[in-house]
Formats: sequence, structure tokens, C-alpha cells
Amino acid sequence: MKSLKVLISGAGCAGPALAFWLARVGHRVTVVERNTSLRTSGAQIDIRNQGVEIIKRMDLLEKIREKLVYEKGAQFINSAGEVTVTLGTGNQAATSEYEIMRGDLVNILYNETKDHDNVKYIFGETVERYDEKDDKVVVQFSDGSHDSFDLLVGADGQGSHIRSTILPPGSNEYRKLGVYIAYWFIPHIETDTNYFTFYSCPGRRSILRRWHEHSDTQVYCVFKDTCNPDKFDELMKAPVETQKKFWVEKFHDAGWETSRFLAGLDNTTNFYCQEIVQVTTDTWSRGRVVLLGDAAHCPSPMTGLGTTSSLIGAYVLAGELTQNSDDLPLALKRYDETLRPLVNEAQEISSFNLRLMFPQSQWAINARLAALRFLCWLGIPSFLERFANDTSPWKMPHYPALDKDEKS
Ligand SMILES: Cc1cc2nc3c(=O)[nH]c(=O)nc-3n(C[C@H](O)[C@H](O)[C@H](O)COP(=O)(O)OP(=O)(O)OC[C@H]3O[C@@H](n4cnc5c(N)ncnc54)[C@H](O)[C@@H]3O)c2cc1C
Repeated sequence: MKSLKVLISGAGCAGPALAFWLARVGHRVTVVERNTSLRTSGAQIDIRNQGVEIIKRMDLLEKIREKLVYEKGAQFINSAGEVTVTLGTGNQAATSEYEIMRGDLVNILYNETKDHDNVKYIFGETVERYDEKDDKVVVQFSDGSHDSFDLLVGADGQGSHIRSTILPPGSNEYRKLGVYIAYWFIPHIETDTNYFTFYSCPGRRSILRRWHEHSDTQVYCVFKDTCNPDKFDELMKAPVETQKKFWVEKFHDAGWETSRFLAGLDNTTNFYCQEIVQVTTDTWSRGRVVLLGDAAHCPSPMTGLGTTSSLIGAYVLAGELTQNSDDLPLALKRYDETLRPLVNEAQEISSFNLRLMFPQSQWAINARLAALRFLCWLGIPSFLERFANDTSPWKMPHYPALDKDEKS
């Protein structure tokens, strides 16, 4: 195997996961992160399906287990605050058995790689520009310094700068769902249970409540509106105080415990708001530049598969690069061919499901709750969950070269 010199842009989940595999087999990796330190913010994310197998292959299962957020299941409540439906945890359920705070996962992946002889992290820098030569890519960093690499990997998230450099001009890389979300943490009170709690109110609005530690409760406000994209584009760029004011106005009459949730906005330090989009592009690589994780195929938080698909993507990319280290075009082609069916599956959100998630009227909300109650009475959710592990036709490849035992 030829040892490659690889530059990864972005130290979120995907970047450090790729560094982990590449370093394990002797490639040399630099990770450049725009933020001046590791970005450990974010709320609860989940690892599902084949993602669990990946963390086992990384020997990280125990470390991740120590940080898991325990959720008993999911509950739907009505406007009186009464629980009307309770569902269990599971691979296809709203809450999985591997729920973890984003910061904890990012920290675990970073700590696993930061002291490795083959890995170097640079914070507070970006890739300013790059020049591709036949045998290398020459990168200029934002501090003006240069270095050359065999490969540049864009693991720089949903709004990837690297992606914008490889896509044909005018490409439409986003699938907009017309869904907007804000989340923040508020002080936990005794009645905040450790169920993932869903509440819907008229006007295609939902509030979700989760609880990850004794002091903090997570609040998520979500709404769907496909009629005012320009207005919301502006909002996403507005100062945080303007954004907070918007969410208060949008949800002030929502009922349930909304007044407490909105009051918590004043003192929270974790407020974040974004438009929920999917990254859908046919182009994951060009020459010696390749995309990974959300930069390539963000499926959106609505699928619960963003982290899982980036962890799997990191494994597949590392495997193909290692197996084909003397033929990068072949490695990148095989990465695309192998991973894309999984990504296509992960990105499936039908417009019917979207409508179901965001009912317009109280009548539709009540009808959805009644239908869910009936399905539960028939035992259908738990029946489906029993077979959930077998629902994905995508079979995870195995790259023996990445196995620890093979290496030692
Ligand atoms: C601050 C933050 C909070 C999040 N919160 C949630 C959440 O609550 N729930 C959820 O489901 N998903 C959340 N996500 C997304 C989730 O982490 C990803 O969907 C998933 O884990 C895939 O990870 P990724 O590494 O591809 O992307 P990300 O985790 O987004 O990581 C991308 C990294 O690239 C860095 N970066 C961006 N631009 C540049 C640049 N030009 N040069 C160098 N580095 C750059 C970013 O700072 C970040 O560290 C969050 C992401 C971020 C960045």
C-alpha cells in the first residue's frame, strides 16, 4: 500500500472519523478546522443501523456507551399536555438506542485521533484556494502558507466551501424541504421526562422536548412553510436576537408549555436555528478533491441519519483509498458507487411523510394522534421495529486492510 498524504477540511464528525481510519493504516493526515477550537456545540444526534457496526469496528462502542443519552422512547401529547401515544426506542423509531450529544461524539473522535503520530490538527484555518497538478494538490491556507497533498477531502459540513469549488457552476445542490428549526437548552424541571416528547399545534408547527442531563432540557421548535423562502433566508442570516424574537412571535400562541420554553430563550447559551435542507449532488469528487459527510450528502436532521451516513462514508472512503492507494480515480469512483445507494436510501423523505409531520389544522393533528393510537393498539410499531435491522438492503462492505488485527 502506498502511504497517502491527505488534507481533511472540517473537524466535525466525518473529518476525525476519516482521520481515524487513514491514520490506523499508515496514511498521513492533516485536519484543518475553521473554528479556533473543536466545535462541540449541537444537540442530540443518533447513531443507527450500520453506524453501530462502524463504531464497533472502531473499537469505540464502550466509550460511546458511557456518554449515551438514555431515552425511554417517544411520546405524543395533545393540547392539554396529556400523553396520547407512547412508542419504544429502536433503529427505525424516533429515538434510537444510541443517542448521544453531538459534542460528546465529536470529542470522542477527536481524542481518539489527536495524539496519533500520523495526524495533525490545525484550528482557526481554512483552505483559501488550491491548485491541482497531475500528481498532487497544492493548497494555500488562510494564513498564507502552502503545502501539497495527494488528496483534499471536504468534510466541512452542510454549507461546504470545498463543495462549491468542485460543482459545475449553477449547480442546484440543495433539496429544500421548507422546514425550519430552532433549538436551545433550558433549565430542567422535574416534570420534563426522558421521553422524546412531540407536540403539534395548528399552522404546521411542532415542539419537541428532550432531556439529556439533570440540569438541561432541550427544546426544538420546528415549522413548515414553503411560501416564504426569501423571508426565511434573511432570517437565517439575521443576528441571534432577531432570530429569537421571530421564534417567540411564531410560537407564542402554541399552547402546552410553550411560555416556559420561550422564556428560556432569554438566558440560553445554546440557541441555534437553521433551515433544514438536504445536499443532493451527483458530484462527490473531482480530480484530487472529494467530499465526505454532510458536505457530500447531508440527509437533514429529519432523517436521523446524518451522523450514521458520515461515519459509514468515512469507513468506505478510507477502505477504498487504502485498497486502491495507487489509483485514486478508481478509489473515488468506487467510494461513490459503494456509498451512493445507502445515501439515496437515507435521503428518502416523501412529501406525504412531510405533510404527516406538519398538520395544518387541529382536526388533522387529532386525526394523526387517533391513527397512531390505533396502530399502537394493533401492535404495528413494535412489530415493525422487531424487523427494523433488516429493512436496509444496503450491505456494508468490509475492508480487511482497516481491521486492527490485520494491521498488528
Ligand atoms: C455546530 C453544529 C451543531 C450541529 N447540531 C446538530 C444537531 O443538534 N442535530 C443534528 O442532527 N445535527 C447537528 N449538526 C450536524 C451533524 O453534526 C452532522 O449532520 C453529522 O454529524 C455529519 O457530520 P459532518 O462532520 O459531515 O458535518 P459537521 O458536524 O457539520 O462538521 C463540519 C465541520 O467543518 C467545519 N467547517 C465548516 N466550514 C469550514 C471551512 N471552510 N474550513 C474548515 N472547516 C470548516 C465546521 O466548523 C465543523 O466543525 C450540527 C453541526 C454543527 C457544525
